[in-house]
Amino acid sequence: MRIHWHRRDLRAADNAGLAAATDGGPVVPVFVFDNEVLAHAGPPRVAFMLDALASLREWYRERGSDLVVAHGDPIEELPRLAREYDAKAVTWGEEYSGLASERDAAVRQALDDVGVAREVVTDAVLHRPGEITTNAGDPYSVFTYFGRKWQDREKESPYDAPAETDLADIRGDPLPSISELGFAEPEADVPPAGTQVARDLLEQFCADEIYQYEQRRDYPDDDCTSRLSAHLKFGTIGIREVYERTAAAAEDASGDRLDAVEEFQSQLAWREFYTQVLFANRNVVTQNYKSYENPIQWRTDPEKLQAWKDGETGYPIVDAGMRQLREEAFMHNRVRMIVASFLTKDLLIDWREGYDWFREKLVDHDTANDNGGWQWAASTGTDAQPYFRIFNPMTQGERYDPDAAYITEFVPELHGVDPDLIHEWPDLSLTQRRNAAPEYPDPIVDHSERREQAIEMFEAARGENDSAG
Ligand SMILES: Cc1cc2nc3c(=O)[nH]c(=O)nc-3n(C[C@H](O)[C@H](O)[C@H](O)COP(=O)(O)OP(=O)(O)OC[C@H]3O[C@@H](n4cnc5c(N)ncnc54)[C@H](O)[C@@H]3O)c2cc1C
Repeated sequence: MRIHWHRRDLRAADNAGLAAATDGGPVVPVFVFDNEVLAHAGPPRVAFMLDALASLREWYRERGSDLVVAHGDPIEELPRLAREYDAKAVTWGEEYSGLASERDAAVRQALDDVGVAREVVTDAVLHRPGEITTNAGDPYSVFTYFGRKWQDREKESPYDAPAETDLADIRGDPLPSISELGFAEPEADVPPAGTQVARDLLEQFCADEIYQYEQRRDYPDDDCTSRLSAHLKFGTIGIREVYERTAAAAEDASGDRLDAVEEFQSQLAWREFYTQVLFANRNVVTQNYKSYENPIQWRTDPEKLQAWKDGETGYPIVDAGMRQLREEAFMHNRVRMIVASFLTKDLLIDWREGYDWFREKLVDHDTANDNGGWQWAASTGTDAQPYFRIFNPMTQGERYDPDAAYITEFVPELHGVDPDLIHEWPDLSLTQRRNAAPEYPDPIVDHSERREQAIEMFEAARGENDSAG
């Protein structure tokens, strides 16, 4: 008997750890609710995870087996379960954050102590951290070269799901409810989880939208991205399966259509780039990746921070994004960049405040990607946006949501208002604003002033302007 410990791989198909487990007799699939992990989660993610677990359990049950669910510290639970099922080995897929690596080292030790073998495999990424390095063997801190090597490397094929005969004939306990785990129901409409849902999304995307991805991915109203992020985070679909389907889409394509498929694949490479950044620099979760001469003098401004969280800043594209986050536990990538830039460069508030809010609210929150995105926007990360190149939220809205269709979907106060007025909102006179949309807030800051102040703040941090900050 072997145990497979499911963590961020809530699927049976294309699961490297589960496939490895089937080599050693019947497999007991296990999931452990770990309070330390739950302490960092928010309601949308817990809801999505419970749905994914229910779907996985169903898959096992249809094959005469079950998912064993435990609640406690994996350091104690895995040796206990190994004893209970007389398992000789435990398999799992490697994870790369500091918290996960520390926990896994402790579980390894605990299993060693009771004489249970373990096998840890690469599962969540196509190329594990440390596999793609500079010629000197260092982790990359710039995406371009990493991305090229990533594209050129051969990719593993998907693993088969275990056969019914590979699975132990067992019965697990029921799954807890979200409130039993100590969470409120999410305020957002959380999308459904499970492998079939992820496969449908992938199929639909690769049948058509992938070929327009390069031209349309930046337009939030087009909704032409894959929406696979939460599935990739929780592993309801395997990365090899996703890549293989995109490679099949590339086979029939040439010219712009092929470029578009490659652009999509390059987002998968960004995911692995940020994973290796996190793996090599565990402290990026709380510290700037890039060092400045002096500490950046972020401002403390609870009122403006709250207005940002509530989508009440008076900058329409920012407010639409923040309200989409609350309503859907998701936000379009271009808009994530805009709201993150607004928090750090217009409100001059520390990126860590934004990261914490996203961590609580996003269904796809992933430590590596979220941190990478925030530090990029804050000009503190790898490949970061230069501190003096500051997004103008009005121009961004006009360029990427010209008809204000995305904005008005999430900001009903602006329904029926001329898109030109919407994009110029912060520059309109008070009377014009009152006439156009009396319920929608006035801008909470002046972008041009804040832009200057942001540049001063960064120049002071760079030691170029000692009188500022
Ligand atoms: C401030 C900020 C915070 C972010 N937080 C997260 C997060 O917590 N979790 C997360 O998965 N992504 C995050 N991203 C990246 C990106 O916004 C999302 O991956 C994307 O919007 C998810 O939608 P999709 O699945 O339709 O993406 P698609 O465009 O269809 O991309 C396919 C997949 O590639 C990966 N990907 C795409 N863009 C990026 C990127 N820029 N960096 C790393 N991986 C990427 C994701 O796994 C995504 O599902 C963040 C970006 C920013 C600017």
